[in-house]
Amino acid sequence: MYKKFIIAIDGPAGSGKSTTAKKVAESLHFLYIDTGAMYRAITYLAMTGNFLEDEAKIIGLAENVKIDLKFINGKTFLSADNVDISEEIRSIDVNNNVSQVSKISGVRKALVKKQQDLAVNNSGVVIEGRDVTTVVFPKADIKIFLTAGIKERAERRLKEYEEKNVHVSLDEIKNNIQERDRIDSTRADSPLTKAEDALEIDTSSITIDEQVDIILNKVKDFFN
Ligand code: C5P
Repeated sequence: MYKKFIIAIDGPAGSGKSTTAKKVAESLHFLYIDTGAMYRAITYLAMTGNFLEDEAKIIGLAENVKIDLKFINGKTFLSADNVDISEEIRSIDVNNNVSQVSKISGVRKALVKKQQDLAVNNSGVVIEGRDVTTVVFPKADIKIFLTAGIKERAERRLKEYEEKNVHVSLDEIKNNIQERDRIDSTRADSPLTKAEDALEIDTSSITIDEQVDIILNKVKDFFN
C-alpha cells in the first residue's frame, strides 16, 4: 500500500533544526515544512496591524489568512494572502513577540490544521518546529529532538544575523533565545518537550553534515 513517510524534528531555537531539516529534505526530495515561519507570519501581521493585544483578532487572522510556504534553493519563502513576507518574519521584533502569539490555543489549532493539510498531498515530508513530534504528527515515522548548549545556539544565530548585516549583540540574542525557550516550554498548550520515542541529538559539538547523516542513516535503517 502507498504510504506517506514523515520525518518530524523538534527542538529549541538555534538547535540546528532548520538547517538540518532543509538538508534532509533536499537529499530525499521530500517536502520541507517550516512551522515556525507560520507562527512568525501571524506575529508579524498582528504587529503591523497593531492588534498584538487582541487575542480574538489574532485567532481570526490565523484561521483566515492564506499562507503559502515555498522552499527554493535552500531558502524558505512565505507569503500571506499573496504578499511575500519572507524577510520580515525574521526580524528581531518578531523574535521578541512570537512566543506570546504562539501561546494562544486558537492560533495553534488553526496553524496545526494548515500544517497537516500541507502534508496531505506529499508522500515524503520533513517538518520542523516545537510540537511536530508531539501534536502535529505524533505518529511520524522518524522523530528527532535536537538540542545544543545556549552558547552554541546564540553564536549560531549571531552568525546568521552577521551574514545578513543585521547588528545585534550576543547578549541580546542569548536573552531572546532563553526567554523564548522559557515561554515555549512552559505554555499550557503543546509545550516544547521531547516526545518519549524521539531520538535526542545534542548538536553542540557535531557538524551539520553529521546531524544530517544521523537522520539519513535512520531513514536507511527504517527500510532495512
Ligand atoms: O523555529 P522558529 O525559531 O522560527 O520558531 C519561532 C517561534 O514560533 C518559536 O519560538 C515558538 O514560539 C513558535 N513555534 C511554535 N510551534 C512550532 C514552531 C514554532 O510554537 N511548531
